[in-house]
Amino acid sequence: MLNCTKMQFTETPITSLVRPHPETLIGLRKLGIETVKDLLYYFPQRYGSVSSGTFIRDVKHGEAVTLYGQISKLATKKSFKSKVPMAEGFLGDSTGKIKLMWFHQAYIAKMIPEGSLVKVQGKVSANGTILNPEIESIAVIPDNIGDGLFGEGVKAGLNPVYAETKGVSTSWIYHTLQRIFKHKDFATIEDNIPADLREKYNLPSIQTALIWIHGPKNDGDATVARKRFAFEEVFFIQLKNQQIRYELAKEKAFIIDTNVEKFKERFGFPLTDGQLSSLSDILEDLKSGAPMSRLLEGDVGSGKTAVAALASYATITTLPKNQNYGHLQVAYMAPTEILANQHFESFIKLFSHMPISIGLITGTGCKKFPSKVNPSGWTNISRPQFLKWVESGDISIVIGTHALIQKSVKFKNLALVIIDEQHRFGTAQRQKLTRKHDLVPHLLSMTATPIPRTLALTLYGDLDLSVLDQMPSGRKKIITELVTERNRKNVHEKVLEELKAGRQAYVICPRIEESDPDKVGALIAKSVKAEAAKLKKGLFKDYRIEVMHSKMKPIDKEKIMKKFYAHEIDILVSTSVVEVGVNVPNANIILIEDGHRYGLAQLHQLRGRVVRGNHQPYCFVFTDSKSEKTADRLDAFKTAKNGFELAELDLKLRGAGELYIGKQWGISDIAMEAIKNLKLVEAARKEAKTIIEKDPKLMKHSLLAEALAKKEDVHFE
Ligand code: ADP
Ligand code: MG
Repeated sequence: MLNCTKMQFTETPITSLVRPHPETLIGLRKLGIETVKDLLYYFPQRYGSVSSGTFIRDVKHGEAVTLYGQISKLATKKSFKSKVPMAEGFLGDSTGKIKLMWFHQAYIAKMIPEGSLVKVQGKVSANGTILNPEIESIAVIPDNIGDGLFGEGVKAGLNPVYAETKGVSTSWIYHTLQRIFKHKDFATIEDNIPADLREKYNLPSIQTALIWIHGPKNDGDATVARKRFAFEEVFFIQLKNQQIRYELAKEKAFIIDTNVEKFKERFGFPLTDGQLSSLSDILEDLKSGAPMSRLLEGDVGSGKTAVAALASYATITTLPKNQNYGHLQVAYMAPTEILANQHFESFIKLFSHMPISIGLITGTGCKKFPSKVNPSGWTNISRPQFLKWVESGDISIVIGTHALIQKSVKFKNLALVIIDEQHRFGTAQRQKLTRKHDLVPHLLSMTATPIPRTLALTLYGDLDLSVLDQMPSGRKKIITELVTERNRKNVHEKVLEELKAGRQAYVICPRIEESDPDKVGALIAKSVKAEAAKLKKGLFKDYRIEVMHSKMKPIDKEKIMKKFYAHEIDILVSTSVVEVGVNVPNANIILIEDGHRYGLAQLHQLRGRVVRGNHQPYCFVFTDSKSEKTADRLDAFKTAKNGFELAELDLKLRGAGELYIGKQWGISDIAMEAIKNLKLVEAARKEAKTIIEKDPKLMKHSLLAEALAKKEDVHFE
């Protein structure tokens, strides 16, 4: 056996402790498990009270069970009411028979021949059937049914169930872990959470937590263990965030202190309370002398651009240091070319009375306002000329796409960076823009993705937060309707009516292409391509219909969006890629197919596509889902006041693991669970802050420093 030193034990290859079968080795590689640590952190997916198998006679309603037996009368059917394709059959063992049903998985009937021996896992419903169980053919029925798989000791507790693969079964994982727990070096694994914090928050040590998470005696053990790992993950994200904040606070920034009152008149509308208070947060930051790092969160249509314009105004009316002429500069980055163009146009309107130039740089080319020949309009200019004017400081406001952060773009006095839809830009890109100058520019990030407060505190913990939680008054309220297949004709007629009146429509489908219904795991859902084809043949044959989806190249997506914007398309059939998109005020109606497949926050974003214009907006959500949970969620969607309310609800109703934004940021399911718990997140944040304030470089916390360095690759690009 290897003689492991302290630091090495967790890095030891599994193969030095056990001798896995070649098939197991392949399986382990597939699961990404190489070292002791990999296995220790391969947490169970769930816990089952029965794992080795139950006799059908002993099955209890509502319980998760594993059964072994023989299949009979397996056949496809269409469910009576909703015409959903399904499979139905029976499982029999020496003690009885039980009904199995699969909705949307009719292919199962073709997969399993009559009389096959199978293993079935699932939950027994109230009427004694098992819905959508996992099923797998086996060669023999095990002879220890009714016994605990893990031997006497664990039988009283909860049995962990892992995501298995060929060669790596739950039982193999369990037994290998038991060997690791008994290894003499297990006790030497160092704890990443300082002892005083563990004590303060009642968190188990790393050893206890690992043992409990893999083999809890009761629910309480499992919960406490998960809480510990969740705290750890959030705590380290916060440590990093607090470090970034601390470092930034030491930097110097341009002092911007101008009066913006007069500029407010340019909008032609009074600012909302949210806009006013966000503006005052921003103006405070701008004159503080330290760089601002602020996130402005607000629903689509809440008026973020106006706030950005006011901050820009303050910046460009401030003189550069030690100069009594010229302007400080603003960089305004948007995620797409069309959005950058839209900002360019609205900024021209707002700033046309000022003696400044505004530039636009995208992949397609460069523009400058004002044009020499036409002082009230813009002109195309060459890229080299553009870059020269930015570098000399002659262009004060530079708007653009990613093209803006290329090395070749150099500013003279970049004082404010505005990033629209910040979640589309990583930390690295953000820093690219801000790092190459002596004075650090202020940063204003803006996002329309409503996220729960706890998640914002975690993900954007390095930023201060301002929120626009109300819409400008006088907006037409969206009419949102939940509809079923039976209403389709009426809904389509409504769309036709709007198209005839000169409007445009979105149709959103979950899939790109029709799925093969015979394929295992096939998702029966509407597809962009099939739906577009159908619409073209029917009621809408005289209208221009095009598709857009994530498999298209960005440039092709932009082309489609441009055509839609120019009203060269009447109906845009798309996947949810339109979510972060463009403002097409003429589009006032959106149909969302298979609405139950989206999270609430996502539905809300989609609905936001039609709130901009002067026409009454409509949102129709199709769903035939009978589940109560879905009904609750969709009702909330209909009645919720704003995106924040929905984001919180999403977190409550859907479960954190399903929040796509967490996945997007590489946050583990376990930490997302923690996100449900505001107290835990706030505690982790507070403790991280206290530590960094006293010991910013973690000189006195070498263990923390080391652990943080290791974790950094995971979360911070
Ligand atoms: P978003 O927050 O989605 O970026 P915009 O800034 O594009 O929203 O604003 C959406 C629309 O609302 C624009 O047409 C803008 O002129 C208008 N708007 C912004 N603030 C107000 C306000 N306080 N009162 C009335 N209309 C406003
Ligand atoms: Mg916007």
